[in-house]
Amino acid sequence: MVDFTLTDEQKDLREMAHNFAEKEMRPVAWKHDKDGSWPQEVIDKAWEVGLMNNHLNPKYGGTGLDYLSGCIIEEEIAWGCSGIGTSIGANGLAAAPVELGGSEETKKKYLGMLSESPKLASFALTEPDAGSDVAGMKTRAVKKGDKYILNGSKCFITNGEHADWYTVYAKTDPDSGSRGISAFVVDRQDGITIDKKEDKMGQRASNTVSLTFNDVEVPAGNLIGEENKGFKLAMMTLDRTRPGVASMAVGIARGAFEAAADYSKERQQFGVPIAMHQAIQFLIADMSVKVDAARLLTWLSAWQLDNGISNTLSSSQAKRFAADSAMEVTTDAVQVFGGYGYIKDYPVEKFMRDAKIMQLYEGTSQIQRMVIAREVLMPRQV
Ligand SMILES: Cc1cc2nc3c(=O)[nH]c(=O)nc-3n(C[C@H](O)[C@H](O)[C@H](O)COP(=O)(O)OP(=O)(O)OC[C@H]3O[C@@H](n4cnc5c(N)ncnc54)[C@H](O)[C@@H]3O)c2cc1C
Repeated sequence: MVDFTLTDEQKDLREMAHNFAEKEMRPVAWKHDKDGSWPQEVIDKAWEVGLMNNHLNPKYGGTGLDYLSGCIIEEEIAWGCSGIGTSIGANGLAAAPVELGGSEETKKKYLGMLSESPKLASFALTEPDAGSDVAGMKTRAVKKGDKYILNGSKCFITNGEHADWYTVYAKTDPDSGSRGISAFVVDRQDGITIDKKEDKMGQRASNTVSLTFNDVEVPAGNLIGEENKGFKLAMMTLDRTRPGVASMAVGIARGAFEAAADYSKERQQFGVPIAMHQAIQFLIADMSVKVDAARLLTWLSAWQLDNGISNTLSSSQAKRFAADSAMEVTTDAVQVFGGYGYIKDYPVEKFMRDAKIMQLYEGTSQIQRMVIAREVLMPRQV
């Protein structure tokens, strides 16, 4: 049976998230975008109404929402503002490896922290010389007694300036490539310096920083899972988070599509609304196809995850297609607005700038294609 009907609970969640996006996010989104200021007030409200930490296990104070419901929320939040949405959602990226591999004590302490108050955590994987090629990372963790000592630099870390703890990936066996990486939970502390806040093209309300670990002491108990198994943990995390990122891309695309469709009915040229010109109708038609097709692929990847079916292929397909579609749809939305689309008084140029990051973070569109090709050509036996 194939059923696209949402449950009453999912419909309620969608309505709640949509109202939040409309009333709490959109009115401040363009201001935060303009000055790159930090939307703490929106984050606090999102936490209060239960729109953060969607998948945290109820054992640690979370709601343990299924991934499909999470996607429904994330689409609405990104429709409101994907910059603020990225900061609201980033805890999920930091928390997933802890849920997957952390000790009971670590889970209670660090996941509990996120459910008790609107605290933030960051996922620190990327380094200046190791982006797509994670195995090239240089950050080192050396065991000394009952502690690990961390040294190294990370870049592009979402919420890094505001995080209370970090999920950090570091080499414990530097000669073993991806098999020499371990993951740790690291408390915010003096040995961690924030080197630079990035001034970004889009998603300007989210916080993105470079940071350095200078002889940072981490209790051995904060190792997540086993030593040298961090790469696998990171890949399992991304299988869980890519449906959410794909949903954000759908939300951005839908926002731009709706704005373009409305504008095309109002703007008159050659004596008729531009929606009467077939060239504009075809742009709008293709936008609607891309939004709906991206959502279906995204929901499939979340549904597979919820039902214990491997979603490595579908989550990469969803992220690739939704991200590239968001870029196309938002670019076409600017086209529908003509010259006004290029001006900041109108909403669509922000959607276009925000869409670009969807093709970059959590694995670029090229890296998604590599994953998809590997899964198609050399499927793993499950
Ligand atoms: C706003 C923002 C927020 C981010 N948040 C986080 C975060 O919270 N935590 C975190 O750890 N990271 C984060 N990142 C990092 C992000 O995941 C990386 O930027 C991304 O993985 C790409 O790495 P890179 O920038 O080093 O690009 P590179 O890996 O240098 O890639 C450059 C280009 O080469 C292509 N390329 C690379 N290798 C191949 C290949 N084998 N075949 C074909 N093409 C290839 C890429 O697709 C890309 O087009 C963030 C980045 C940004 C910009």
